[in-house]
Amino acid sequence: MSEPEGIIGEYSALKDDADADLLAMQVGDFYEFFDEDARIVGRELDLKISQKSSGGTTVPMAGVPVADLDPYLSALVERGYRVGVADQFETEDGHARELSRIVTPGTLIEATDHEARHLVAITGDGDRYGLAVAEVTTGQFHVMTADNADELLTECYRFDPVELLPGPELKDGQLLDRIIDTTAATVTEHQENAFAPGAARHQLETQFGKEAIDAIGLTEPTIRAAGAVLEYLEATNEGVRAAITRLQPARSTDHVRLDATTQRNLELIEPMSEGGQSLLETLDKTITSAGHRQLAAWLTRPTRDRDRLDDRLGSVEALAEAALARAAIRDTLESASDLERLATRVINASVGPRDMLRIRDTLETLPDLIEQVSTTPTLASSPLASYIGGIDREQAASLATELREAIVDDPPASFTEGGVFKPGYSEDLNELIDQHEEALNWIQELEEREKQAHDITHLQVDRNRTDGYYIQVGRSEADDVPDRYQEIKALKNSKRFTTDALEQREREILRLEEQRNALEEALFRDLRDEVATHAELLHSVGHMLATIDLLAGLAVHAVENGWHKPTLGADGITIEAGRHPVVEQTEEFVPNDARMGAERRFAIVTGPNMSGKSTYMRQIALIVLLAQIGSFVPADRVEIELVDGIFTRVGALDELAQGRSTFMVEMEELSNILHAATEDSLVVLDEVGRGTATYDGISIAWAATEYIASQIRSITLFATHYHELTQLGDHLDDVYNIHIAAEERDGDVTFLRTVSEGPTDRSYGIHVAQLAGVPSPVVDRARDILGKLRDDKAIDIRDGRTEPRQVVFDLGAGEYQDPTSADGGSQEAVDPTHQSILEELAEMEIQDQAPIDLMARVQEWQDRLNSH
Ligand code: ADP
Ligand code: MG
Repeated sequence: MSEPEGIIGEYSALKDDADADLLAMQVGDFYEFFDEDARIVGRELDLKISQKSSGGTTVPMAGVPVADLDPYLSALVERGYRVGVADQFETEDGHARELSRIVTPGTLIEATDHEARHLVAITGDGDRYGLAVAEVTTGQFHVMTADNADELLTECYRFDPVELLPGPELKDGQLLDRIIDTTAATVTEHQENAFAPGAARHQLETQFGKEAIDAIGLTEPTIRAAGAVLEYLEATNEGVRAAITRLQPARSTDHVRLDATTQRNLELIEPMSEGGQSLLETLDKTITSAGHRQLAAWLTRPTRDRDRLDDRLGSVEALAEAALARAAIRDTLESASDLERLATRVINASVGPRDMLRIRDTLETLPDLIEQVSTTPTLASSPLASYIGGIDREQAASLATELREAIVDDPPASFTEGGVFKPGYSEDLNELIDQHEEALNWIQELEEREKQAHDITHLQVDRNRTDGYYIQVGRSEADDVPDRYQEIKALKNSKRFTTDALEQREREILRLEEQRNALEEALFRDLRDEVATHAELLHSVGHMLATIDLLAGLAVHAVENGWHKPTLGADGITIEAGRHPVVEQTEEFVPNDARMGAERRFAIVTGPNMSGKSTYMRQIALIVLLAQIGSFVPADRVEIELVDGIFTRVGALDELAQGRSTFMVEMEELSNILHAATEDSLVVLDEVGRGTATYDGISIAWAATEYIASQIRSITLFATHYHELTQLGDHLDDVYNIHIAAEERDGDVTFLRTVSEGPTDRSYGIHVAQLAGVPSPVVDRARDILGKLRDDKAIDIRDGRTEPRQVVFDLGAGEYQDPTSADGGSQEAVDPTHQSILEELAEMEIQDQAPIDLMARVQEWQDRLNSH
């Protein structure tokens, strides 16, 4: 081993070369961090720091065993560090070290969970944006063009990148700030050259072939983004790049636009409040982690592609019907592993013997699956069969056979431990194993042989690290051993000996073990390389299994919850007995209908607080969304037209309560919708305008309603507490009113949760307060105030000590004026002179006064009024 300063010098040199925050350098059986890096790692990961002396100075050192590096790497990367890894390898004269990879959030293949980790590059040409998305653990690679900044934001939110590579033109821009706000991505400033059009195209052509790239016809921004990602992967970890075998261009027109706000509002992946449940969580009945990942991808990426939807719906339908086969398929999937990820790890040479078995077992599920599908007529005649049909079965079967013939059923975790291969796999290995076993047998039998030959009872043959093989004889008999025995050690109760023959066998065994390990290692590498040539097969089988798992999971959920198959391609949206897919899980749910379309494109939804307006509107949006991922829906009957986008601005109140919404944000979101929605979109507006003063709010809501109903013509639901808006139903074509009914009996309110035609006429807020247990003096007083507010009457303010004062609440200004105070506010306030005259009038006791005195009082009042 080199001198300490040698090591530390080497460390600094490698560190200087690496574009990394920290460097893990292999020194024998450990990866070491030195100096400042050791301090950081020690602090972050709670590692023990020791001191390494070097040329008179001492530097801190922290290390982890080679086999334990992965979790430490993930932990460091998750804390935002870029970590370089330098490996040690044997050379003719000792060993050398080389930087082998740089691990960053987007290139970490040692991911500890099953969620997708996206590395995203973005570029822009002033007009359009390019997006390239790599998922290195599975080798997925998507590219797409976004037509404007909002679309780019939407895609970024959808993929939720862990690492973002902005092109030079986007660095430090406002757009980048907005993206960073909506994701938790680490931003990496990769070298500008990588984004140059020529260099980028070259990267793509090298990776996928010129013909493929020409055939796809990518836009320049996407070429630049995709090339930059490839270049970045090469710079950080070549193996990761090699695992990307397929370029998947997305045509954004196929997808339902679903902006970040909508994805959040509809709680597709994450619930909005703690303790809530996302749609993903509710719907997920998948068995495999790949199936779960794919469900998340579908939910955030519903499609308008009718063929694709028909295939999915047809499969779910068949699977829902064929209960036995479905159960059998799901049983079979239990033994499937995450082939998409394993394929990447095969290419990265980071698989062990047990991973090979997982690949084998997963491939071996294919015949069962095929059998289950082909022997079930419902399934065989459904589109499900075509998913399986796309797989090269022969290739899969021969690869599985090859692995089955190669690897023992219970292999060690690492191929360096030996014992990986089955007898018969390799002639050479067989021979070595035979010789090895023969030598071992000789030693095993040695004990009996020696005991008998020399008549010694306490004799034992064993092996340990320091003494190698030895013959151990008890003290009492130690003098009876033959001369050939050479003593090597004396213990308290025994002595250890060796013999020439034993030493010779020992040398032979060591040589054979070394040869056997070397051969097994070489064989394993060859096998791994061979499997790596089938990476595309593994990817496609993995993807197919994930799809089947997902479709079967959707069928299970549909059957368990009484969901039905939607009919696509209708006019408008018709829902009979629809439910909210998440709320129906936890509450006795009252189903509701919806009929929207010609002449009923814009529904104004009114109803008391808490009656179910938000739930009803979200349930419609979710039913449409579920239909457009190809799932059954929570309703008895659904017919929908395929929408091109779902836009929501939900719950000023709900969101305000969580500090998530300001009026500015509310208006920005409304603005996005007014720009982006089309005639084919579904728009849900919930309490828009609530974040400002009443008249402001009504005006904005009114104008937005007119604009959407007459200009954009999206199918729209608008819940509002502004009853003024309900008049629009009478005056605008296609705008109509519905309300969610509540029933009042003996002063109590029962929420019926049923949707009816027409507007509501009153607010039940006070009844809700009563239901919530607000004390009755407060409830009664609130009723009294409400009555006066409605009639624009002055209200007396009572504090129980001083005389009541009169105020008039100005709904428009959202504030009240005190009519008795001198600086009494706005013009509408009562004049103090008038007020005092009125008070005198009110207090005057008419009976006690002579008519002449009364006239004098009236005269005085008149004078005061006139002189005023
Ligand atoms: P709003 O928006 O009118 O204030 P929400 O939609 O927030 O009312 O609904 C209030 C509560 O009522 C929800 O939390 C839900 O639990 C319940 N709810 C709503 N719709 C239904 C329904 N159709 N069946 C049963 N419970 C419902
Ligand atoms: Mg609401």
